Amino acid sequence: MAGGPDVAGLIEDDAVSVITEGLVVCDICGSGSAPHLIANCARCNAREHGYCMEGLTFLIPLIWFCNRCQRNANRAPRS
Ligand SMILES: [Zn+2]
Ligand SMILES: [Zn+2]
Repeated sequence: MAGGPDVAGLIEDDAVSVITEGLVVCDICGSGSAPHLIANCARCNAREHGYCMEGLTFLIPLIWFCNRCQRNANRAPRS
């Protein structure tokens, strides 16, 4: 059994954390431009530009739910 550290795996993990950490990126277009127009789903933490989401809006509500969560919210959440 070779006991070397899995260097490739570590590098991959690090790259992912660099991308996701501290940078707001739209889940739909993958761009981080116009961060003030990116809505952040209060439920699943999805991020979408107001102009990328279905039902385009330039007024990002303070508490916003993405399409999927809006559908789920219509059903009783499992507590
Ligand atoms: Zn976008
Ligand atoms: Zn959501």
